[in-house]
Amino acid sequence: MNDVFLGLGSNLGDRLQNLRLARQALRELGEVTASSAVYLTAPVYYLDQDSFLNCVIRLSTAVPPQNLLRSLRMIEASLRRERTIPNGPRTIDLDILFFGDQILSTPELTVPHPRLAERAFVLIPLAEIAPTFVHPVLQRTVQDLLSSLPERTAVEFHSTLD
Ligand code: ADP
Ligand code: MG
Repeated sequence: MNDVFLGLGSNLGDRLQNLRLARQALRELGEVTASSAVYLTAPVYYLDQDSFLNCVIRLSTAVPPQNLLRSLRMIEASLRRERTIPNGPRTIDLDILFFGDQILSTPELTVPHPRLAERAFVLIPLAEIAPTFVHPVLQRTVQDLLSSLPERTAVEFHSTLD
């Protein structure tokens, strides 16, 4: 079994419901052992789109990394994610943030997620459920990475996931 941290994001349709449906689907892959609150995040990169709802989930799973990525893509597809504009609107985005303390670098999968340490919308919910988890590459805790972020004003509490 591995403890995997997954980042969930939605900015299209019923965003909260999309996060809930994704969590429900994730239960097929293992046990959901923690869920952060849901945060409202202004869009980054591609600005002409609605705000995102983001949360982080901890999944205890026996599914190996590549299979997990494939399963996440199937869940995204089942929630009818459309990939049109890069970094653009999506009903659901599922990212592998940490896979235990494994370090992976393949063309289709990089773990820990390469942009995790610069994203307040990831670090804030992650710090809620795993503040002392040590980033296996940077060798710093989540809490420490969060306190080093230059700016974190665009992320605010929205609701719980339940
Ligand atoms: P983003 O999540 O950056 O908004 P996408 O969801 O479209 O963008 O992902 C683009 C690609 O990133 C996916 O096809 C996937 O193969 C790759 N990828 C690499 N590392 C990861 C990871 N840790 N978690 C999820 N996807 C990843
Ligand atoms: Mg993604």
